[in-house]
Amino acid sequence: MKTRLLFLGPPGAGKGTQAARLCEANGMSHLSTGDLLRSEVAAGTALGQEAEAVMNRGELVSDALVLAIVESQMKNFSEGGWLLDGFPRTVPQADALEPLLKELEQPIEAVVLLELDDAELIERLLARGRDDDNEAVIRNRLEVYREKTSPLISFYRDKDLLVSVHANGSVEEITKRITEMLS
Ligand code: ADP
Repeated sequence: MKTRLLFLGPPGAGKGTQAARLCEANGMSHLSTGDLLRSEVAAGTALGQEAEAVMNRGELVSDALVLAIVESQMKNFSEGGWLLDGFPRTVPQADALEPLLKELEQPIEAVVLLELDDAELIERLLARGRDDDNEAVIRNRLEVYREKTSPLISFYRDKDLLVSVHANGSVEEITKRITEMLS
């Protein structure tokens, strides 16, 4: 199975849930920039204080800040592979990732795009009820996704790395679908 992966997709598509299951089952490191940022916020670090307001508006934290976090975490990557979840989220982040992976001599093997309709995304996010999950913020996050992140779909399709998975159905079904696409 391919074990050096990126997860791409709109907020609410289930990236975090599926990433955790896939990493657990296959001994891969799970690097979620959203989780890392939320733990900085919870710990009240300077970095967390800088990120909190931005996240609560549904905007993206600066590329420089996210890159610093990712770079520091890449040293802990497991031999069994890794899954980057929620990163890269902009073309500049994807460009910055390339030399880092080149240095590690660990190229990306596949980019998994989780796809779901807006109506279903909004329903799921409202049900989740995180601090940044009220309707106005959700709509902003979907817009930010479309504008800043969705260009990565053709970016990785052009590199022949993109694998699309429909993200509806049960959690188990979706995991099975992803696993099959990666074997
Ligand atoms: P979701 O899965 O709902 O998109 P995440 O947990 O991945 O949420 O991210 C939550 C928030 O953290 C984002 O809305 C954004 O503000 C910030 N964030 C996470 N990853 C990045 C990134 N790579 N670049 C910029 N901001 C990020």
